[in-house]
Amino acid sequence: QVLRHLYVEARHLLHAQRPAPALALPLLERAAAGAERLGLTDLQIQAQTQRADALEALGDAAGALAALREVVRLRSADRARLLADGQRSATARAEAELQALKAAQDLRARQRALEAERQRLGTALEELKAVYSELAKTSRTDVLTDLPNRRAGDERLAFCLRWAARHQRPFAMALLDVDNFKRVNDVRGHSAGDAVLVEFGRRLQARARATDLVARWGGEEFLLLLLETDLEQAAVMVDDVLERIRARPFALPHGPPVHITASAGVTVYRAGCGADDLLRSADRALYAAKAAGRDRAERAAPPG
Ligand code: GH3
Ligand code: MG
Ligand code: MG
Repeated sequence: QVLRHLYVEARHLLHAQRPAPALALPLLERAAAGAERLGLTDLQIQAQTQRADALEALGDAAGALAALREVVRLRSADRARLLADGQRSATARAEAELQALKAAQDLRARQRALEAERQRLGTALEELKAVYSELAKTSRTDVLTDLPNRRAGDERLAFCLRWAARHQRPFAMALLDVDNFKRVNDVRGHSAGDAVLVEFGRRLQARARATDLVARWGGEEFLLLLLETDLEQAAVMVDDVLERIRARPFALPHGPPVHITASAGVTVYRAGCGADDLLRSADRALYAAKAAGRDRAERAAPPG
């Protein structure tokens, strides 16, 4: 502000009459020097231009020329600076655009990566579900006969008890045991015994209805759970199964087929009875069938 004032004053002096240039000159020099110090190029150029005028007016042609050269130098330096500034800002703009572009690309790449990860997780989840359902199945399936195992039988029995209690509908249970099975193992070998168990399970399953459960209860013992079936109907069904067992000899992996019979204990649900009551009752009937000479079904006394 002070410098500008100095410069304006010098210009006034310059435009006044004669001895003024001499007065104005030191002021212009101070203004030019001050402007240079503060980097006020515009003011410096103006002060130098006026200084050239003053020097010329005072007859100092060489001094005026030097001042004008300084003006030219300042102007071209200023232009170079402006140009550089312009380039810098253009470069900065381009760089900013590039950054924005890269950020957008990064975002897309991240989205793609996330999508890939999501799909990978989805596949893993499907595999896990398959493994779980396979596990759930195998933990309830007998390896030899592929029938429901004892655990599955227990669960089904619990369900039948709830169902019967709730709907007051009958259901029957039978335990079947292969007669003299030990002899098959002893005479024909363990794998012959296995083959008998597999075929025994098939014949039971072939006679069962969709709502019946046939399970391998353990060893050479099988469980039948028959929904909507009373003692009489269950006994008829089990007699039929035993007939199917005895009627056709069982093929074995080696040697001639073997004649097989089985015994059974049949019982029926009665209000208030539990799983153990039913199992005990069926087991007692089975024991009675064995004691009476095997190859027969015995009906249990009502459980409880
Ligand atoms: P009973 O008429 O009184 O039932 O006589 P059993 O010989 O059938 O009965 P016992 O309990 O004396 O023998 C059953 C045999 O079943 C003994 C056991 O080694 C055999 N066993 C149990 N599980 C399997 C199996 O998975 N495979 C084979 N091959 N044998 C088995
Ligand atoms: Mg047996
Ligand atoms: Mg047995």
